[in-house]
Amino acid sequence: MRMLGIDIGGTNIKSGIVVDGVVSGFHEMPTEAFQGGQTVMNKVLRLITKYNNYNRIGISSAGQIDPATGQVIFATDNIPGWTGMRIKQIIEQKFAVPTCVENDVNAAAIAEAYYGAGKGKDSMVCLTFGTGIGGAIVEQGKLYHGSAFSAGEFGHITIHGGHRDCTCGNKGCYEVYASTKALINLAEEKLGISEGLNGRMLMALAQENERVYTDVINPWLDEVILGLRTLIHVFNPSLIVLGGGIMEQSYMLAYVQEHIQRQIMPNFRNVEFLSAKLGNHAGIIGAAHLAVKME
Ligand SMILES: [Zn+2]
Repeated sequence: MRMLGIDIGGTNIKSGIVVDGVVSGFHEMPTEAFQGGQTVMNKVLRLITKYNNYNRIGISSAGQIDPATGQVIFATDNIPGWTGMRIKQIIEQKFAVPTCVENDVNAAAIAEAYYGAGKGKDSMVCLTFGTGIGGAIVEQGKLYHGSAFSAGEFGHITIHGGHRDCTCGNKGCYEVYASTKALINLAEEKLGISEGLNGRMLMALAQENERVYTDVINPWLDEVILGLRTLIHVFNPSLIVLGGGIMEQSYMLAYVQEHIQRQIMPNFRNVEFLSAKLGNHAGIIGAAHLAVKME
């Protein structure tokens, strides 16, 4: 079956035709989320008219999604007015094509489970490191949604209770210490760089100066490990997939793999770590896969 996959993020809208996990006709454009949810929805509807010859539509979207109704239950102000958007209903009414909607981190995890890092494995835990830390749980090839479609908010597990403030209103959350943003903040502080640093620049600096590893990257990875340790003891996964540009650095995985072993109980040590493989295409591949599987 040919599926139209669309990934609606706070920054970009990506799309393409997907057949068996392979994307053709990939297209990317800015979401311009500041214009509000209704304008974003209209943009998606115009985008759909540019494609033809597909059987179903799979949508991956930012926010908490009810996959049964294809509605956005809650979205942050990254896309103002996105909360409540009836994505599935609007698309099916206009195009009369069966449409499936899933949260973007969940869609990416399903893509990795079937076509990427987790191919051949039934169960895995996925984390995405960026401004925050997103997560998803795949068990026996299926997503675990939780009672309000919100499971897998790994960025808000508490690793340093009572310490630094998080955007969620609590203190000591994982993403305050272990997101890519936290790494950059730490680097700017320790290296005396005022602003404009990114992950790639940091790795280039580390090549020249060992101190970047000892003062910045390793302490940050120790924070990453604290959260992973908790997840390993909760889920007993055989695989953890680490996504986000920074985790494509082989140093990160090697460090985690080496240092985490003695911090987890012996019967959990079969766990393996891999980088996410599908990058930019994961959301549309996962959404398309879910569209194939929909009843
Ligand atoms: Zn939090």
